[in-house]
Amino acid sequence: MKKECPCARCVKGREFFKRTCVHCGGKPWTSDYMLKDSVWSEAGLKPRDLCCIQCAEVKLGRDFTINDFADVPVNNAIRLGYRMGLRNPAS
Ligand SMILES: [Zn+2]
Ligand SMILES: [Zn+2]
Repeated sequence: MKKECPCARCVKGREFFKRTCVHCGGKPWTSDYMLKDSVWSEAGLKPRDLCCIQCAEVKLGRDFTINDFADVPVNNAIRLGYRMGLRNPAS
């Protein structure tokens, strides 16, 4: 049996890689987005849940808008996409 490092850092890392999307059970292709807390809970998600961006949209029952994303650096690419009209939710 392979010995796994028991240090907190490695345990946390393994836990992260074991986590899957609460909706589709798959591995989210990216976790590089952060919704506003209110939107996250509106979608029925708990703070520590992991969810693909497209699954979160399904759970929420509507398309995201730029205002659903928190104003944090991790969302820069997404917010830029919205500004450039790359993501153009149900107009
Ligand atoms: Zn370690
Ligand atoms: Zn998913």
